Amino acid sequence: MHDRALDYARCTQALREDRERPGFAGIFDEALTNALAAIVAARWPGTEMRGSRVKSASELLDVIEEHGEETEVGVFELSDPHGPQGQELFGRRIGPVRTTVRVGVFREGVAITQPQRHARLQVALLLGDEHVAALMELNDASSLRAPFAEFDLEQYEQRVALADSVERARARTYIETLGSEEWARREAVDYEADYTEIEDDERYAPHECPVCGLRSLIETRVDSYLGEIAAGTCVACSYVKTYDVADLEGRDEALDRAIADPRR
Ligand SMILES: [Zn+2]
Repeated sequence: MHDRALDYARCTQALREDRERPGFAGIFDEALTNALAAIVAARWPGTEMRGSRVKSASELLDVIEEHGEETEVGVFELSDPHGPQGQELFGRRIGPVRTTVRVGVFREGVAITQPQRHARLQVALLLGDEHVAALMELNDASSLRAPFAEFDLEQYEQRVALADSVERARARTYIETLGSEEWARREAVDYEADYTEIEDDERYAPHECPVCGLRSLIETRVDSYLGEIAAGTCVACSYVKTYDVADLEGRDEALDRAIADPRR
């Protein structure tokens, strides 16, 4: 299962270590989209989605502008829906934790990291310290609270996950490039009917795509632990789920099942 808080933390940590690392644009988009989706979903459930998929970072910033309180130009404060609301704890008064969303800084970051149409001659821009600092500030939200220090990005699993974040961001950019009319057409396709293959009496139906939410991920391989988690390509949004990603997911799922039912 895709964990928004975990993905936000991994990507933010990657940018803290090196904000010019290869794929930084996708890593920034993934960190911001996941953080905002978690923050928005905790406060105004449902407004983080557009049909089957999660809204883009700039659409999520629109939601925050609409519902949040602007305390300075481009800076929005959100109250914590689950945190302490001014009650006493061990004689100390705990104030509600507010989350600061620097919408202005993020819009600039999105402009830097989104490939602009008709801008081939534009000088490539890089993210600044202020963009990474604004991402870290989001961690005050009770829906995130991620331990950044936990991520050793040299580890194989973290490298696989980070590469997957870059790939998810790429597929989302592809969806945006298609435009809403073409996307509506793809949403209406019956992928199960059109793409199910039958081989030696085995039925291979498409899987749900974690990026666009449609049942349009065509399986090429399955994980080695359970033989259930599919790697493949989404014919709707172009996302490619690698075998490494599927295999690690299969490993985690197999562990969860062993813990839930030790006799198996
Ligand atoms: Zn997809």
